[in-house]
Amino acid sequence: MTRDPKHDILFEPVRIGPKTLRNRFYQVPHCTGFGAEKPGSQALFRGMKAEGGWAAVNTEEALISSDTDYWPVVSTRVWDEDDLRNLSLMADEAHKHGSLAGIELTHGGVHADGRESRRPSMGPSQLASDYHPFVVPKAMELGDIERVREDWVRAATLSRDAGYDIIYVYGGHSYLPLQFLSPFYNKRTDAYGGSLENRARFWLETLEDVRAAVGDDCAVAVRLCIEALGPAGVELEEGIGFVVLADHLVDLWDVNVGSITDWSKDSGASRFFPEGYQLEWTGRVREVTAKPIVGVGRLTSPDRMAEIVRSGAWDLIGAARPSIADPFLPKKIEEGLYGEIRECIGCNVCIMKAEWGNHIGCTQNATAGEEYRRGWHPEKFEPAANADNDVLVVGAGPAGMECAIVLGKRGFRRVHLVDAAPEIGGVMRWVPKLPGLGEWGRFVNWRAVQLENLKNVEVITATELSAQSIREYGAEIVILATGARWATDGLNALTHEPISGADAVLPNILTPEQIMLEGKAVPGKRVVVYDAEGYFTAAGLAERLAGEGYDVELATCLERIAPVTDETLEGPMLRQHLHDVGIRQRAGFLASEIADGLVRGTDEFGEPLELEADAVVLVTQRLSNEALYLELAEEPDALRAEGIEALYRIGDCVAPRIIAEAAFDGHRLAREIDCEDPATPLPYTRERIVLESAAIRS
Ligand code: ADP
Ligand code: SF4
Repeated sequence: MTRDPKHDILFEPVRIGPKTLRNRFYQVPHCTGFGAEKPGSQALFRGMKAEGGWAAVNTEEALISSDTDYWPVVSTRVWDEDDLRNLSLMADEAHKHGSLAGIELTHGGVHADGRESRRPSMGPSQLASDYHPFVVPKAMELGDIERVREDWVRAATLSRDAGYDIIYVYGGHSYLPLQFLSPFYNKRTDAYGGSLENRARFWLETLEDVRAAVGDDCAVAVRLCIEALGPAGVELEEGIGFVVLADHLVDLWDVNVGSITDWSKDSGASRFFPEGYQLEWTGRVREVTAKPIVGVGRLTSPDRMAEIVRSGAWDLIGAARPSIADPFLPKKIEEGLYGEIRECIGCNVCIMKAEWGNHIGCTQNATAGEEYRRGWHPEKFEPAANADNDVLVVGAGPAGMECAIVLGKRGFRRVHLVDAAPEIGGVMRWVPKLPGLGEWGRFVNWRAVQLENLKNVEVITATELSAQSIREYGAEIVILATGARWATDGLNALTHEPISGADAVLPNILTPEQIMLEGKAVPGKRVVVYDAEGYFTAAGLAERLAGEGYDVELATCLERIAPVTDETLEGPMLRQHLHDVGIRQRAGFLASEIADGLVRGTDEFGEPLELEADAVVLVTQRLSNEALYLELAEEPDALRAEGIEALYRIGDCVAPRIIAEAAFDGHRLAREIDCEDPATPLPYTRERIVLESAAIRS
């Protein structure tokens, strides 16, 4: 394959201060859950992107001193030399692959609530944090301002000495420098408050200090939310005004939108934001600077990237999520391997995993976060020791597709991926058809291309296999990936019992699959979608039915509507959107009976409540389709008699989980299929302090 010449522009080098980026692909800072605490994971995760062609890779936010502490959210810390010793591994990895390493030095100011350090948060004024409303900061005295500037210089110098090429004075998502800049946080009446010039003073002075200390050796970058799209920052005109004031001190402008409370508008989910959406605001920065600009917007289309550079809006194509979903995106464009690009689907599960799980993962890329601890490479696959076997994978959902692909890449003689449905995808045959989730279809698209290209993998659809037909299939290794189904009787987490009168054989009781796959008609006008799960399914069905003209009430026994979508930064916008399209939302409703056109139950305070419903959609819990596996496993002799040496199960068939985990499960089994006991995951390398002896003070 050769690259389209119109993409050549993406491979031009770009100078930033004393450093040169080898091309225009730039991994902007983003969270991983690794910080300095998991140095191996940090180094190899970023190093993989450097290998994949990103000209610069950056850490996540790197807190410059112990008076800025966000624990338990894992940030990088630059509190002392040991932190930098750990972080130097990352710089080494970046350099090994010809990339620059950047560190996003920052101070959380008001929002850093000091849970571990027990130090008070600090800000320009004593105003409670809009991010953690129970945190009230100390209003910074002049001595505090001076100390923070010194801390910044110390952190910058240590970072340079540890090998970092790009040093940030990051204010970004309403961190301390932006808190000074923003009248929302800054009500000071001294030289640091009032006019734009005064509010910019802290940031400008810090930039001057950092530049004087490391500017000859490192590029100095600023990350600025140019438009807060909410109260917690500055509006576009002031953002641009700051660029004018600081331009002479900056080698690279890294510009985005949003704030810490409106982060959902920066890391915008595909449900609400199309590719390139930030250009509307960040495209304006060029008007006032000739310095290199990097912007983001979930860009995966090389045509769009080249257009943006050619337009002059940005010099560099920034990416967090597209670089997680495909660390080799630049290389694939460079080599013209367009069909190989694993495009981010904009689901924000990476954020869910990094922020809430303290270890990043990705729906599209099962190897993300596993580079160090499991030694996985997204593009390299070892030939399997038992590759001279035939493998049958039953079920072509996320788990089965991913497993078959990795088995194919590991060189198995023959892999058959068989599904009862007319096409591959499993649950992803219908999930992308829910309103707003169309981009999730990329999950199947990429896998369909891979399966097509693997000559040793055959996909067979519209074929339902029984236990007997599996035994007689002729494969030595059998893997069941038969997925899960929604409960048809209202079984749920809160009662661990079905709901009286709930039975999806009735015409007025429906499950998600009945609606989305079987075309079961929804009777009447008033529909209650009852959610006991809390992620996207109930909200999606409610919106779909509202779009079809039904009068929809979305009721949940949980404390709020779709709480899991808060972890993916979708929650507040989703609830607003559901409201805007006319869906009534009721949290804290525990259903106990469905009868007489009513759903009976209790409200959040235990008082009886009845909801009128011609039809009820049950989104309560899923159950594994494990019967086939259990039937096969029950008779090991019958398997052996047919020459089957191993039987495994993966994905939702083991336990119903998010798509990322089902795919991971399939990937994991295929990576470890030639180990002694493939059913049990190999231990992974953990990063923690291990005492050599019982060194506890008495
Ligand atoms: P996962 O998320 O674990 O991959 P899914 O529910 O998305 O699971 O996919 C499971 C797939 O398995 C579905 O496409 C379903 O049609 C298929 N399947 C289930 N049972 C059988 C069977 N007996 N024979 C063939 N395919 C099956
Ligand atoms: Fe993109 Fe989803 Fe992967 Fe995040 S988890 S990088 S949003 S595909």
